[in-house]
Amino acid sequence: MKIVLASGNMHKKAELSDIFRGHTLFLASDLGIRFHHEETGSTYLENALGKALTLNRLIHENGASPIPVLADDSGISIPVLGGEPGIYSARYGSREAGRKLSDLDRNLFLLERMRNKDDRRAFFVCSMVLLMDEYRYFSAQEILPGLLAREPSGTGGFGYDPLLFLPEKSLTVAQLTTEEKNRISHRARAAAALKTLIEEHLERNHS
Ligand code: IMP
Repeated sequence: MKIVLASGNMHKKAELSDIFRGHTLFLASDLGIRFHHEETGSTYLENALGKALTLNRLIHENGASPIPVLADDSGISIPVLGGEPGIYSARYGSREAGRKLSDLDRNLFLLERMRNKDDRRAFFVCSMVLLMDEYRYFSAQEILPGLLAREPSGTGGFGYDPLLFLPEKSLTVAQLTTEEKNRISHRARAAAALKTLIEEHLERNHS
């Protein structure tokens, strides 16, 4: 199946192409479409679905052939902070600082919020939607659970990777190899669940 990603991110394309083996993934730019979406949802799922619907509309407006759209939204959710940063993960702390923070400064901001908190549970969350057409979609939401470290460790990955400590590996996500992270990440898990779902669906509809 041909699928277009509601993202401009080449790394996401590479990571997801590996999981969606047997299918062909495109970026919106490969179809000559400039994709932009303002996130207005109050959950990961609403944001993922919003991105997919926006790209679907752009495809239609550009007169391109209809094609299923894959979109995701992710972040880190921390129960003791009432789910923060959650859907605001990318811009967490920017309002307080009056500027867009670097990944490191954002991690330090989060550590400050977590000072004196004993409950260190934290979850990377990824909601993923495959929109088949305007009225039909499949979705999966998955997690990578861990504990919020007391200080950043590791140089791999991006975002909050240096802060999510995985007790079973005694490493933070930033200390994993890219291959290992891509095998166990919230995105990989959501994508794998979605792939199974759509392949079962396609099989049923063709048998
Ligand atoms: P997006 O869904 O790709 O826009 O991700 C939103 C934000 O969540 C990112 O800017 C990161 O701060 C955070 N995030 C999402 N996935 C990861 C991850 O795999 N590692 C670390 N941070 C992540």
